[in-house]
Amino acid sequence: MTANFFGRPLWQTDSLIAKALSEEAQRQETQLEMIASENIVSRAVLDALGHQITNKTLEGYPGNRFHGGGEFVDVTEQVAIDRAKKLFNCAYVNVQPHSGTQANQAVFFALLKPGDRILSLGLLAGGHLSHGAPPNLSGRWFDATHYNVDRDTGLIDYDAVERQAKDLQPALLITGGSAYPREIDFPRLRAIADKAGAKFLVDMAHFAGLVAAGVHPSPLPHADIVTCTTTKTMRGPRGGLILSNSLEWEKKLQSAVFPGVQGSLHSQIIAAKAVCLGEALQPEFKEYAAQLKANAARLAKTLMGRGVKIVSGGTDTHIVLLDLSSCGINGQRAQDALAAANITSNKNPIPYDNPKPSEWVGLRLGAGAVTTRGLGEAEMDEIGEMIADLIEAEIAGRTKAVASRVARKVALLCQRHPIYR
Ligand SMILES: *Cc1c(COP(=O)(O)O)cnc(C)c1O
Repeated sequence: MTANFFGRPLWQTDSLIAKALSEEAQRQETQLEMIASENIVSRAVLDALGHQITNKTLEGYPGNRFHGGGEFVDVTEQVAIDRAKKLFNCAYVNVQPHSGTQANQAVFFALLKPGDRILSLGLLAGGHLSHGAPPNLSGRWFDATHYNVDRDTGLIDYDAVERQAKDLQPALLITGGSAYPREIDFPRLRAIADKAGAKFLVDMAHFAGLVAAGVHPSPLPHADIVTCTTTKTMRGPRGGLILSNSLEWEKKLQSAVFPGVQGSLHSQIIAAKAVCLGEALQPEFKEYAAQLKANAARLAKTLMGRGVKIVSGGTDTHIVLLDLSSCGINGQRAQDALAAANITSNKNPIPYDNPKPSEWVGLRLGAGAVTTRGLGEAEMDEIGEMIADLIEAEIAGRTKAVASRVARKVALLCQRHPIYR
């Protein structure tokens, strides 16, 4: 019986789940992944994620655990910490947050009391749920106010942020988001936070990989605390990091993560984070990140060349946010039209959009996964043309015919750039 338990692979023991996994693998292989929060991890990261290190339960930090037998997990966690410090050139790192949202929760737990005022980028302007949105714990427990982007430029309206911060005197100023495609003026926000007596948190969940590669300004010299995910542009396992240049918050942050908002660490994720951070220190990662930025810029340019409106008129990151408000179709219809040709994307609000998801007129694209897959600017031209064709077809009510033609091109691109063979 134990021989079976330890020996039989999934496809022999659970055909229902094995089938779903195999179909998911096939889906990833045959679709162009353009969701900005997704990427493709290396075989090495997958090896760590599927390792029996997952059996190990540990609470606490390397060298100071509540359970025995932690010496090898300690190695992986210490390596992850050291690599992250080197990569982001910072003094403090916590690699245990189970997700980006929990990294933010831990920061709130360390810095705030329930009822404290926070000021963050609004959801419709590209902000994130975990920055005080009403349905999120952060919105229930803190008194959240949001700043916006300028209606014409799509850029954060820093003068307005300054006025809001002056009025509100928030305990915490937060920046970063899920659909903000431009570089953020960290020194300006730091100055605003200082004048208002606020701490300053930068959530670089989306652009962390670009910062790691040095192709995007780092928030670390300016922020009190920085959070990020190891997915998205870092192209690592699902999870979060907390970083800081100051050791001022070290004790509070350590105890905020554990035992504040989490229990035991996810040992297989810690190992995979260490692998991902090691990859990000290699020269190939810089090449990937530079290509990623160039690819996103090219995609935006091609789409604009076809008359598609892009929020803020372009991108400084991996995100391209389409504004379909003048097209007569909403984000959902655009998402479905792309899906009909095996291009995966997501509907998204644009600044000043209707708050109802069914009314959103934005479509968010990201170049992370296709860049990792080996696609370059020539292919981004091709993809931009395909997406513009699909949107035009959807507007004209003839998506079916166009989608089958585009799907053949997508299939060819995917075949030429296979992922896990
Ligand atoms: C994706 C994202 C997160 C959260 O990530 P999860 O791991 O999904 O919880 C947090 N902040 C921002 C700005 C994000 O884009």
